[in-house]
Amino acid sequence: MAPKHVPLRTCVQCRCVRPKRELVRVVRTPQGNIEIDERGKVSGRGAYLCRNRSCWEEGARGDRLEHALKAKLEEADRIRLLEYGRLLPQDTGDTNVSKGAKGS
Ligand SMILES: [Zn+2]
Repeated sequence: MAPKHVPLRTCVQCRCVRPKRELVRVVRTPQGNIEIDERGKVSGRGAYLCRNRSCWEEGARGDRLEHALKAKLEEADRIRLLEYGRLLPQDTGDTNVSKGAKGS
């Protein structure tokens, strides 16, 4: 039997809701560093992004992550996010997800 309770998280960039394990957590640590936390183990304030290159590119350039983390992204953090995004597929290939559901 499949587990009924799947923890869901919202991508701060495109606002799509996915199972937590399909998203990547970005954390502001208590020391104020921005870390990409693939295992969800780093303590601190977290925000989630899809494993989708465009979310990371837009996230690195925009201010939604800053709002979600309540932190200022340094240039080095933005570069790190962009570089991480480059490792990800252009799209998840999940054609079941409606592309029309993007927020304003
Ligand atoms: Zn997204």
